[in-house]
Parts: sequence; structure tokens; C-alpha cells
Amino acid sequence: MPLKTEYKLPQGHELRIEVKEDKELLVTAKQGQAEVFGTELSLGEQLTLRGQKLAVFTWHGVVLELTADAECLEDVTDVVYEADETPMVEYLNASNVVEQRRRAAREAGGQGPRTIVVGPTDVGKSSLCKLLLNYAVRYGFAPTAVDLDIGQGGIAAPGSIAATPVEAPVDVEEGLPVEVPLVYFYSHVSPADNPELYKFLVERLAALLDRRAEANAEVRAAGMVINTMGWVDGLGYELLLHSIAALRADVVLVVGQDRLYSQLSSELRARKDVSLVRLPKSGGVVMRPPPLRKLARAARVKEYFYGAHGELSPHSRTLGFSELRVYRVGGGPRAPTSALPIGAEPVADPLRVAPVTSPGELLHSLLAVSHAPAPEFLLSVNVAGFIYVSDVDVTRNTVTFLSPSPGPLPGKFLLAGSVKLFME
Ligand code: ATP
Repeated sequence: MPLKTEYKLPQGHELRIEVKEDKELLVTAKQGQAEVFGTELSLGEQLTLRGQKLAVFTWHGVVLELTADAECLEDVTDVVYEADETPMVEYLNASNVVEQRRRAAREAGGQGPRTIVVGPTDVGKSSLCKLLLNYAVRYGFAPTAVDLDIGQGGIAAPGSIAATPVEAPVDVEEGLPVEVPLVYFYSHVSPADNPELYKFLVERLAALLDRRAEANAEVRAAGMVINTMGWVDGLGYELLLHSIAALRADVVLVVGQDRLYSQLSSELRARKDVSLVRLPKSGGVVMRPPPLRKLARAARVKEYFYGAHGELSPHSRTLGFSELRVYRVGGGPRAPTSALPIGAEPVADPLRVAPVTSPGELLHSLLAVSHAPAPEFLLSVNVAGFIYVSDVDVTRNTVTFLSPSPGPLPGKFLLAGSVKLFME
């Protein structure tokens, strides 16, 4: 490790670090206090960053040591710089308001805050969610993290919406906990592909989370932190309103867009039970153009199978296509023409579940393994995990796939969609 360099940050400053995709940088807090999106760094603990972009912030001042197996920092990072202008005070204030509601809910045995973070792409929504979750954990709560952003898959694989309890600080290297997530597979990466299905699944997830909250006073009081997708115009805006209503969000944090804030304030004016707060975007948030998002998606799927540091070893298996029972949602006719009024065109039923009949279309697909006991429950039951179709032999009618663990799949039925990617 020939490179070693130190940064002394005064209080309220942050060090913004963008590690190059395939490079590694080690960060250690030597003295003082530092955190990454609300996760405290223990003094002396070495944080390994691989391709990550983040900020190490300090409320009280910190000495950071950066080490790398490189000649100079530029070999492993795109940029490292100190910033004194951050929105952390505003974020902390928002977190404190939410915290008071949590405590009041705990006292009264009532429902704690359901905070939804909204805003266009690349404004730091996911990072703010992590911060809110971490601060809640510091105060002794275990809030539920909900991820409605199907494009990236913050909790489960891309193409899904998911929720998970957060009982410990979010691991800077690994991300949100994935041990017991509640996952629904929407099976596409854009909500525009099947908005009816997106709404249906958000409602299913909301109903299940309601039941969990009803059954457990601590879960209820801790509330939720809901991350959303960055599509905030037209249909995207409509879906956002639907999510706010379905999950009964009562704190809406709008990051980085005045227009969305003003639209939502007129929309929610009559709702005295909903607090709408405008928050600034951090200057450090890194923009990700569509090709980079695609790469990030593939990386996320790879991480699902191989682990953040390659510590998992997935299993490759080959089965006859007839042994796999794969279904797809949407696309079928809503009603037979004979049942429609004269002249009316049959439209596709967005919630129709139909079997996939040819294996060829599954190549490089991510498939969800459903907990459903029968195909008619595929829509309403959550998924156990995912497999990745790495090869299809159409002459032998076989499918080769990667599964996180050996042995039989945890469910009989599989869900396919349009999530395709290349993993070498
Ligand atoms: P999307 O719309 O794609 O979901 P988003 O609004 O959720 O994006 P984030 O994912 O929070 O935005 O941030 C985008 C990237 O910028 C992430 O890699 C994140 O770690 C990084 N980032 C966020 N805040 C900072 C900061 N202050 N300094 C450096 N990097 C940051």
C-alpha cells in the first residue's frame, strides 16, 4: 500500500470521494467523529471502498487517513475533495421532526411517521433515506426501509419493490440489510412498462406492512422511510401520488425540485395530517446517466449472487424447461372480443398471469422465485429470491441458471419480465 494521505476536516465539512469503478480505497477515521450518510465510523476501523461514491461528513471535526495500492490518488479515484457547504443541518432538522413523532407514537402506542422521500433522479434520495434510517437507529428505533425505486434495487434485485426492517446502522460497504426483506417482483425496470402492475404491487406491499405494524407496537411507532423513483412528471407523478396514498405517508420530503414541491403543496393542501418539507440537494450527489444506471443495475444483480466482495458462491444448474414453471404478468387480452361492445378493441390485461411457453425468451433474464402455492397467487404473494438465466439450449430445451444456493429452489413458480442483463 504505497499511498497514504491524511485529511483534517473541521466541523460541518465533508470529504467527497468517488472511487473508480474497479479500484479500491481504504478510509480510516484516526481522530474525532465521522459518518457516512448517518453511519458512524469507529475510530481505527478501516472502510474499504470499491467503486463507491460517497461523502464522509463530520459534525465535530475528524482526521481521515486514505490508503490505496497506487502511486497517487488519481489512480484509484475520479475525485476527492473537501466541501464545507452541505445540507446536513437541514437533513438533521428534518430527522429531528420525524424523531419527535416517533417518540410520541411510542408513548401513545400509535402509528409513527411514514416518511417518503421524493425528487428527480440524482438528488440524493437514497442517501437521505439511509441517513434518516441511521439516525432513527441511533435513537433506538428499528424503522422499516421501503424501496419503491425499481430501477436500482436498493434492497432486493432491480425490477422489484421491497421493504426491510433496519435494526442496526446501514453498512457502508454492503448497503441496506437484505436478510429478511419483503419483496415483490414487478419484473421491469420502468414503471411505464406496466403501471397497473406497479400500483397493484405497491398496494400489496402496503397492506402487508400495515398488518406488520398492527401486530407490533414497536414496528408501528418506528414508522417507515420510503425511497421512491426519480420519475416525477406525468405518469411518474401520478404513481408518486399513488404511493403516498397507498403507504399512507404523512411526512413528504421533497429533495431538489421546487416545481415538484409546489405541485405537491397544492395537491396536499387539504391534508392537514401530511407534512410537506422542501430540502436542498447536496452539491456532492453524483449524476448517473442512463448507461451508468444500466451498469449499476448489472452490478447490483452480480452483488446479489456473488456478494459485495465476491464472498458468496452461487450455484449453476441446468434443468429441462418443462421442469421450470415460468410465468409472465401482463400482455394478454383483457376480455374476448365477443364480450366487448361492437367496435371496441380488446386491450391487454396488465394483471394477466400467463405461462412462458418458449425458453428462448428467457436468456439473460432475471427470474423471481415466488412463494406462491399456485399460479393464480403469483401476483399477490411475495418472492423468495432470484435466479439468473445464463444459458438456454433450445434444441435440448434446457435452461442453465445461477441460483444463490444449492438444492431445490424455495418455490415452485417463477416470474419472468423484461429485466435482462449480461453477467460474465
Ligand atoms: P436515483 O434517482 O438514481 O435513485 P438518488 O436521488 O437516490 O438517485 P443517490 O443514490 O442518493 O441519489 O446519490 C447518487 C450517488 O451520489 C450515489 O452514489 C451516492 O452515494 C452519491 N452521493 C450522494 N451524496 C453525496 C455526497 N454528498 N458526496 C458524494 N457523493 C454523494
